[in-house]
Amino acid sequence: MTDRHIPEPAYSRHDAYFRRHNLPTPCLLFDLDVVSGNIDRLRDAIPQAEIYYAVKANAEPALLKLLAASGCSFDVASPGEIDLCLAAGADPGRISYGNTVKKAKDIAYAYERGVRLFAFDSAEELDKLASAAPGAQVICRVTVVTTGAQWPISRKFGCSQEDGTALLRRARDLGLQPYGVTFHVGSQQRNPESWDEGIGIAAELFAALSADGIELELLNLGGGLPAGYDAGVQALEAYGKAIRESLGQHFPDPPRLIIEPGRFLPAEAGMVRSEVVLVTQRSEPVEKRWVYVDAGRFGGLAETEDEAIRFPLGVSRNGAPVASPSGPAVLAGPTCDSADVLYERNPRTLPLDLRPGDHIDFLAAGAYTVPYASVGFNGFPPLPAYCFSGEV
Ligand SMILES: *Cc1c(COP(=O)(O)O)cnc(C)c1O
Repeated sequence: MTDRHIPEPAYSRHDAYFRRHNLPTPCLLFDLDVVSGNIDRLRDAIPQAEIYYAVKANAEPALLKLLAASGCSFDVASPGEIDLCLAAGADPGRISYGNTVKKAKDIAYAYERGVRLFAFDSAEELDKLASAAPGAQVICRVTVVTTGAQWPISRKFGCSQEDGTALLRRARDLGLQPYGVTFHVGSQQRNPESWDEGIGIAAELFAALSADGIELELLNLGGGLPAGYDAGVQALEAYGKAIRESLGQHFPDPPRLIIEPGRFLPAEAGMVRSEVVLVTQRSEPVEKRWVYVDAGRFGGLAETEDEAIRFPLGVSRNGAPVASPSGPAVLAGPTCDSADVLYERNPRTLPLDLRPGDHIDFLAAGAYTVPYASVGFNGFPPLPAYCFSGEV
């Protein structure tokens, strides 16, 4: 077989489903039972933490329903995501508006629907919150080093510890409830020790604000828990241990704790099945075998940008493994855009007699795939177009 690192039987349920149901490719097939198992594992690993699922990783209604029914809460970034959570049965009191960049009218929308927990990282955002969500609980996002993350997302958000102190004081002066601290270690974080810095900063903020008579209550550990794309990813238990130790060290008096997994909960539940469209040998600029499939960068596999996320692959022909020696191949998507190449710098190992009609499965593909392919990533509506001609 190919470079499939996830144990074979892990996707036997998907294979069985595909044999029974002739689904057209490309598509994502998603096993909700895997998510239930991941919720249990996370609760075992960090029992103190309430789970706030980051909806942007996968906003399928059936998934959100399962999470709500399992007692999970939600981290959202837009009114669109609030609507999805409420439709899935979420209690607005269990929704955190974690995006630190919000329109005033979107804050008001959330507040009218009962959302009371908001993140911020700037004075300007606090002013908006004070007028559109008076008295709400606000948590300050601080920056931390994100080395070790395969999909770093932190540079865009967060303030320094020093600014955080001043901003949380300002929140009180504006009539908001300074409630806690949050940070994000970067997505697909490979180093379990990465949470220590943010937990340490939070502890210092708790102490500094307490000296001012402000008692912070919430520590939000953000996202970053990894999916098992390769054998080098440490088990969840290693993350639980590192985080619990760090909490014990910095917080003798444990605060209310939230964790916001996006990728971790749905990733390994999903398989994207694609069909081989063309296999050819190209000689320019160097001789290589190119394999084109009907799933690509613009159809959900956006995290292959810079080959950041290396999905494990499975190959089959008519539902059976392909028994043939393997060799390197460039793997590319179906569109006419030259950015639609999934793996070239680090080619993939694929059967040498691979041919059109064979299936290539992208495993552990249940997070950050369909949302990128859909109109409305992160609950933001797509760009409308208006045409006109003649006199205006
Ligand atoms: C995206 C995001 C998450 C989830 O990150 P993962 O790396 O997928 O776990 C959590 N919190 C916030 C605020 C986010 O933007």
